[in-house]
Amino acid sequence: MADYVVYADLNCPFSYALYETLSSYNLLHRVEWRLVEHHHEMGSYLGSAESMAELASDVFSIRSRVPEVSISLPMNRGDSYFPTLCVIAAQLINPEQAQTFLRSMYRALWVEGKEPGNPSVIFHCLEEAGLPTEIETDELCEEILTRWQGEWEGGNFGLRTPAILASDGRKLVGLLNRESVSAFLNGEDITPTELTSGSRLQERMTIALYGGEAVAELWSVLASLRDDSNILLPQSLMALSELIMSDDRCPDLVLLHNDGQATNLIEQCRELSHLMREKQIPLAVIGEPLSDNQEAELYDAGISDYLHQSREASIIQARLNILLQLKRSHDLLARAASIDNLTQVFNRREFERTFETEWRRGQRSRLPISLILLDIDHFKAFNDSLGHLYGDQCLKQIAQAIKGCARRAQDIVSRYGGEEFCLLAPETDQAGALVLAENIQKKIAELNIRHSDNVNNGAAVTASLGIATLMPSQKGVSPRLLLEQADTALYQAKDAGRNQARCYEADAQ
Ligand code: GH3
Ligand code: MG
Ligand code: MG
Repeated sequence: MADYVVYADLNCPFSYALYETLSSYNLLHRVEWRLVEHHHEMGSYLGSAESMAELASDVFSIRSRVPEVSISLPMNRGDSYFPTLCVIAAQLINPEQAQTFLRSMYRALWVEGKEPGNPSVIFHCLEEAGLPTEIETDELCEEILTRWQGEWEGGNFGLRTPAILASDGRKLVGLLNRESVSAFLNGEDITPTELTSGSRLQERMTIALYGGEAVAELWSVLASLRDDSNILLPQSLMALSELIMSDDRCPDLVLLHNDGQATNLIEQCRELSHLMREKQIPLAVIGEPLSDNQEAELYDAGISDYLHQSREASIIQARLNILLQLKRSHDLLARAASIDNLTQVFNRREFERTFETEWRRGQRSRLPISLILLDIDHFKAFNDSLGHLYGDQCLKQIAQAIKGCARRAQDIVSRYGGEEFCLLAPETDQAGALVLAENIQKKIAELNIRHSDNVNNGAAVTASLGIATLMPSQKGVSPRLLLEQADTALYQAKDAGRNQARCYEADAQ
């Protein structure tokens, strides 16, 4: 009996990603892989535009949660019933070869984009695994599938795959990241919480494709883009606008499919390009050739390129790549303009920009936001006695120490001015912010940067920190108030003798 039972679906990209994750840890031998049908009796849903949009979004999530796993968007999510029976039949013949067969089937679907129900795909995968290519899927296989299906449906997994059941009764449903899988397999209890956005700069560029039967008609183009880019398939203009406005799923290029049906294409382009202007996201339209006048009107409405869908996929791809490169250069420039040259943390301008965004996010999430203001103690004396070069060196070290303490992706460290820094910690309460501030103090102490002998008897450089926490969703509060409170707390820390962190208290003023 294996230590773990996994209920998984051939058709589920998260199940595939779990398979690859376990395989990379060399742990598949500890797991019994029971295939079930997640989209059981949902035949008509499988090929629908909604199903494809959901799938595109799942592939996107997997790439950010488990970037080690190679996965591409397949053309559609075919029926998995027959191939599932084939895997079960293979498991009855030879478990080891069945493992190879399962892997080939998963990769055929999720890497090569093949249809798993296609007999020639199954034939090829059986051959690769050294199994008889005339595999029998008899009643026994069906019975096993029905039994597993029943276990999974009745097993309190919320009808989600993949679901791992440990022999000691622990469960892990869904796939968060490699670390959670490894922790679970090491005996820990994992409570599935939704992961917040990963890194801010994603390596792959993201293309949002919208309009008509875009996926089916433009498949040859998509097929060539889907490996290098994330493809998102919003199902309505509203959903597309939401993506554009979001921070973590914002596309780098919007490709609008002109299927000749839209009566207000120009208006649509005008609205979209207006929405995308601030983030400098290019908008391209693809469709049948238009008259010069019509095309010119679209350029007037703000599009960056009009592509003819009858052209070779390689031409279309090349032109989209040029737009993506422009977007990338823009992002790099914007990033450079947001960094403080000396200390390499964000500058004040970027702090103010992010502060506003995070504040609005806090209003929606109804979670607290904390701000820590830090001012180096007696820094004028440090400069005056040791010189500005040493002063600059000290600023750099302290900035990096603060950055090292801010571990969450949404924490923003910036240079607020001269020898003052700030750390904006969204979704962090006062207790959490105090821990952060004390960590920073400890790290600065560990740097052990010495004053000259005639200042403070050559003591180590210290800093004072002011902490404020507010609920942006509360009435009568503002980003400005948070800043003022952090500033007040900082002065309280200075007044109380420096080298300490203080939380803002209303009646302590
Ligand atoms: P306190 O403990 O009250 O904060 O005293 P302080 O001396 O740190 O504060 P004050 O505001 O009097 O001095 C800040 C000094 O920071 C002034 C300036 O010499 C130094 N400073 C500001 N920006 C830079 C910089 O970019 N490089 C260097 N080397 N020093 C800077
Ligand atoms: Mg100062
Ligand atoms: Mg100072």
